[in-house]
Amino acid sequence: MPETPIYLDNAATTPVDPRVLDAMLPYLKQQFGNPASSTHGFGQVAARAVERARAQVAALLNAVPADIVWTSGATESNNLAIKGAALANLTANPTHGKHLVTVATEHKAVLDTMHWLEREGFEVTFLVPESNGLISPDRFADTLRADTVLASVMLVNNEIGVIQDIASLGALCRARGVLFHVDAAQATGKLPINLATLPVDLMSLTAHKTYGPKGIGALYVRRAPNVRIECQMHGGGHERGMRSGTLATHQIVGMGECYRIAREEMAVEAPRIRAQRDRLWAALRDIDGVLLNGDYKQRIGNNLSISITHCDLPLTALTDIAISSASACVAGQASHVIEALGGDASATVMRITVGRFNTDAEIDFAAQYLRDKIKSCRTGNLKAA
Ligand SMILES: *Cc1c(COP(=O)(O)O)cnc(C)c1O
Repeated sequence: MPETPIYLDNAATTPVDPRVLDAMLPYLKQQFGNPASSTHGFGQVAARAVERARAQVAALLNAVPADIVWTSGATESNNLAIKGAALANLTANPTHGKHLVTVATEHKAVLDTMHWLEREGFEVTFLVPESNGLISPDRFADTLRADTVLASVMLVNNEIGVIQDIASLGALCRARGVLFHVDAAQATGKLPINLATLPVDLMSLTAHKTYGPKGIGALYVRRAPNVRIECQMHGGGHERGMRSGTLATHQIVGMGECYRIAREEMAVEAPRIRAQRDRLWAALRDIDGVLLNGDYKQRIGNNLSISITHCDLPLTALTDIAISSASACVAGQASHVIEALGGDASATVMRITVGRFNTDAEIDFAAQYLRDKIKSCRTGNLKAA
């Protein structure tokens, strides 16, 4: 039997890969210089490490390194992208454009930023996806108006794992001169992203969903054509004036290293994790009242999100596995994502997300454990339902 509890909440965060930690440690010990200290070797070594990491992050996305701006994570990147672009547009064209578009199933870091902009006088359309979680490009196109400044759509949903058709949605935005922001926090290292061809202007990234440390992320800001954003953190003018603050060298090195590993190992790792996820689903799918949340085909390989009807099973009672029902940010509340899809509000939702360090033995144990728990928790008469 594998050691328990088994961690199956890799969409909430991932452990730091030991190779990432090894790469970071020298920058906490000997190489502690401030990357902005250009007058001596301590600073110069740190600055070189930061630029190497910038190139590693860019390489995973096939982007230009100079288009990568360091932030503290995807929450900050989403704020900087959306507020930054909305406010920069307002300064440049005070009379044109106070309309924004997003999707009801986005992460709270996008939704709450949009709500803040509403209070600042912007108008926001929150598009509701189809019941499988996907956005139809036709319905998306209908939301774009002459005064739309920016649209924000995530690549991979953090709760149900569905993959949006970013290429089609981005092409619609580009054709209408609308900026397109994509939250890719759940996508990096799991599917190929090519910003040389994708029509995306701004992309939010974070390290800790891809086996890097918490507290470091980046915003991709396309410069050809030039995307202007208003900085949200004023200070020393770091990061081409878009985000001030002393760069966290060790965190940045960690993000570079975890994206380097992701780029090199994704092709082998993604199918292995998908097979493990499919083994879990195969063990649960024939139980009455177990339903998959979100589309199966257009879905990231590590995510299994299920609704279980007639089952009153608090996830905290599952002491041998660590899973969640929804985003960690809203743990304990009903999921706005499941709600937007029109799912059964009384069902128990389980989000099971597999990661790099899960063994086959762990998957087999978790599959049997969940099967037993779900079968024994039945309340009411399922057959009659
Ligand atoms: C985790 C996550 C975030 C928040 O990222 P942090 O780096 O923790 O701030 C934003 N969006 C999505 C889709 C996420 O999964």
